[in-house]
Amino acid sequence: MDRIYLDNAATTPLAEEVIDAMVQVLKVNFGNPSSTHSFGQEAKILIETVRREVADYLKVTPAEIVFTSCGTESNNMIIKSCVNHLAVERIITSPMEHKCVAETVMDMKKRRGLEVVYLRPDSNGDISLDDLVQQLKSSDKKTLVSLMHANNEIGNLLDLKKTAQICKEHGALFHSDTVQTMAHMEIDFSDIPVDFASCSAHKFHGPKGSGFAFIRKSSGLKGIITGGPQERSLRAGTENVCGIVGLGRALELSLKNMQAYTEHIKSIKEYTIQKLTQIIPGIRFNGRSAEESSLYTVLSVLLPFKDPMIGLKLDMKGIAISQGSACSSGAAKPSMVMMMLLDDEDMQRTTPLRISFSHLTTKEDIDALAEALKEISQPFIIENADGTYR
Ligand code: PLP
Repeated sequence: MDRIYLDNAATTPLAEEVIDAMVQVLKVNFGNPSSTHSFGQEAKILIETVRREVADYLKVTPAEIVFTSCGTESNNMIIKSCVNHLAVERIITSPMEHKCVAETVMDMKKRRGLEVVYLRPDSNGDISLDDLVQQLKSSDKKTLVSLMHANNEIGNLLDLKKTAQICKEHGALFHSDTVQTMAHMEIDFSDIPVDFASCSAHKFHGPKGSGFAFIRKSSGLKGIITGGPQERSLRAGTENVCGIVGLGRALELSLKNMQAYTEHIKSIKEYTIQKLTQIIPGIRFNGRSAEESSLYTVLSVLLPFKDPMIGLKLDMKGIAISQGSACSSGAAKPSMVMMMLLDDEDMQRTTPLRISFSHLTTKEDIDALAEALKEISQPFIIENADGTYR
């Protein structure tokens, strides 16, 4: 059975070119980048070349890029260091953040007793920037605002520039979890006064275990892993040279093909919306995921019937899809994002599904998904005498 992969917001398959570049490093460039001999220096040059490439993409300086093991580590480092080293006493965030931000904020609240303010999303899943302004005006405490750029479950996008400007005007630090948007769109931090951001290579056809944190030079942030002076003492530990090179090659491919990939994925998403609307009466789309303004790689569907086994049923038909984000799909509880968006009746009677695309997704993949969903939904959908459905 040919399997179909529609869970690209969880992770993406590695590009061949990325594998080749990484294998080359594993075989040849095994030196420790901290060593002063030629083996070490070759490895060091590879890392610095990728740092320059990332910095050029974001229009920042190479010194503002710190390589880490993943998006989770980058977000942990930023939030924890803001509290531990920058005297942050209050965090303004939202209940829609990825677990690696939400749990880190909770942990800091428990350990350090800092104040946490949650901006409640509206029925579309959007955060109100007026609410943010009100909250920023309401306290003199040193504040960090942590709001994600694109929601990993419903694809809603935050206006990063406006949010960053508001934070700046009110003297707050601003961190954005940009894991779902890095390398998927143009991001210019010379124009957006964000202080901190995060990236994970496996979200754009790079390897797992490789990411970076963007840390604005003037911020004074420190690392949370102590040890050697790697990454200018911001992240101790011998660098994952092969992972960093993989990240660099994946970024290069994403940037080179960004327009073509974006156009292709947008057309596939449009096709998916049309196809599913035709075959499943009463289907809805969560948040802004079916709108042009959302992250183009994610479509969050609400099926008009309850079937907690749907992920498994699709998997048995060879289709990999998520019932939430990868980090919560294994859990029996619905995700926090869905709890924010759906009322009790929806919770009882509907099933959310996240379809996420890559440039490798084809119309045939979507046809197969539609066929499978049609079969699965048949017992749940009853046709009325007048041809409508209930
Ligand atoms: N932030 C967001 C929005 C994500 O979607 C993810 C991964 O799903 C992460 C952070 C965590 O990234 P990583 O898997 O690299 O730890």
